[in-house]
Amino acid sequence: MEMVNIKINGIPVSAPKGSTILEAARIAGTEIPTLCFLKDINEIGACRICVVEVKGAKSLVASCVYPINEGMEVFTNTPKVIESRKQTLQLILSNHDRKCLSCVRSGNCELQALCKYYGVDDEGYYDGVRDRYEIDYSAAHMIRDNNKCILCRRCSAVCEKVQGIGVIGANERGFRTNISSPFEMGLGETSCVSCGQCIAVCPTGAITEKDNTAEVFKALADDTKTVIVQTAPAVRAALAEEFGNPIGTNAEGKMAAALRRLGFDKVFDTDFGADLTIMEEAHEFVERVKNGGKLPMITSCSPGWVKYCEHYFPDMTENLSSCKSPMQMFGATVKTYYAEKMGLDPKDIVVVAVMPCTAKKFEIGRDDMSAAGVADVDFAITTRELARMINRAGIQFNSLPEEKFDDPLGISTGAGVIFGATGGVMEAALRTAVETLTGEELPALDFVDVRGTQGIKEATYNVAGMDIKVAVASGLSNARELLKKVKNGEADYHFIEIMGCPGGCVNGGGQPQQPGYVRNTTDIKALRAKVLYDIDASMPVRKSHENEAIKQLYSEYFGEPGSEKAHHVLHTTYVKRGLYD
Ligand code: SF4
Ligand code: SF4
Ligand code: SF4
Repeated sequence: MEMVNIKINGIPVSAPKGSTILEAARIAGTEIPTLCFLKDINEIGACRICVVEVKGAKSLVASCVYPINEGMEVFTNTPKVIESRKQTLQLILSNHDRKCLSCVRSGNCELQALCKYYGVDDEGYYDGVRDRYEIDYSAAHMIRDNNKCILCRRCSAVCEKVQGIGVIGANERGFRTNISSPFEMGLGETSCVSCGQCIAVCPTGAITEKDNTAEVFKALADDTKTVIVQTAPAVRAALAEEFGNPIGTNAEGKMAAALRRLGFDKVFDTDFGADLTIMEEAHEFVERVKNGGKLPMITSCSPGWVKYCEHYFPDMTENLSSCKSPMQMFGATVKTYYAEKMGLDPKDIVVVAVMPCTAKKFEIGRDDMSAAGVADVDFAITTRELARMINRAGIQFNSLPEEKFDDPLGISTGAGVIFGATGGVMEAALRTAVETLTGEELPALDFVDVRGTQGIKEATYNVAGMDIKVAVASGLSNARELLKKVKNGEADYHFIEIMGCPGGCVNGGGQPQQPGYVRNTTDIKALRAKVLYDIDASMPVRKSHENEAIKQLYSEYFGEPGSEKAHHVLHTTYVKRGLYD
């Protein structure tokens, strides 16, 4: 690799040819502040926070886009640089709704952090015209408050380039520039799929999930209700980050303890719902293969992906598995089987789902999600909202003991927990489908070809004399690429797993927000996924069909996978949507 030698703040550094000053400075151990920059996604040099002085240059340069060349001398912290950054922050604040005291991002807002580092506050900002924007509450999953938007365009870049959707972007020009949907529509009127990837990258409180914590606290205080919580696999892989722990910390035991201290009557696990999903989905796949059903069958666990399919590939909704997602299967099972078993009226049960995903807030309101005549799931809160509840209740998360989930709907397998990583649903389904098709025990359970954080993965497995071709995609641009190959006849898969968020649920739009410099330098998805694969490897039971609680559920209630009762409670239907409905 050809290297280029430069000096940063007088210290010699060698960096690969083609590097930017920002990248070279990192090699030298100096982090230059950024706001708009997201590597490979938003490299527009627009916010001007990353300016530096280059010897011989007439003006300050934006280090995120300025390439290095041999002998260059760069200064990252001169009085001129610092004054420029302060002025930029003051200009941003002059048109910013400075409500840090109650802002949901206070404490992890990238703008607030920079203002603190540079000593910028209400004093000395430019007092000019302040825009007032109406807050957009129209979407089921999120709130857009342009009064806190700094026009960094990270959100629109992610929506367009990573998700291939592009329903938010800059409207108007100059001072009137603002981020909104086409034709000033409310976001809820567009083909937004509720993935929340824009929220995950927003450096400020301009876009946030719709917060349901107050409703959950109210339910917990209501003695007439049995309040049951379920936690998605990926939540345990990230929740600890909200309490200052490193990315890749397993929070399962402390999370169960915290939920109990919040007052939930039963602390159950969506991993049980994942095992149940595998029972139904593997059965559906085997039936489609044996009986000439619609192939490729595509997984339906990710509500962002399902909505995307309905909007953008409506002619492929028949390919979707009819299985409800693990969250919905879990809620439906609680309000039917569990209610009956415990002598409870489903109307008196409140199911709260803790999810890494904002699209779950949309999913719980879909038609056909009320097996017992009431909503399967009452509230879907994000990992971030759970952390907010824990903080509000004064629970010292890091000091909690490690506790376990309650029986029987807290019992799960290794197959259930890997649902949170891209490829995990495929691997879990294969563990069950292969044993069902061959009638023999698998010699090895790890399907390593479908693991890893690549956007698209493919593999072929010979099962009972038949080549089963599978593919896995995460992130909706990757899904589009894969589906185009299927539609054009360039690929003939039997089974496809698609997750709406890049890397799967571990990187969902409801997970803890990491600042830009961490996103740019750390493989967050891989670190969180490792937590789940480590849990799987340590589990005594790693196949969904060997989960004793699941076996009991079928023997006491559903009979067989795919039975009429199972179909009524655990399966769903889809709609073909246009782009604006
Ligand atoms: S977005 Fe940041 S700077 Fe603005 S009010 Fe919220 S915490 Fe404060
Ligand atoms: S939630 Fe997803 S689809 Fe909707 S605007 Fe944000 S990134 Fe785009
Ligand atoms: S909404 Fe957030 S991510 Fe989008 S431009 Fe505004 S500040 Fe940046």
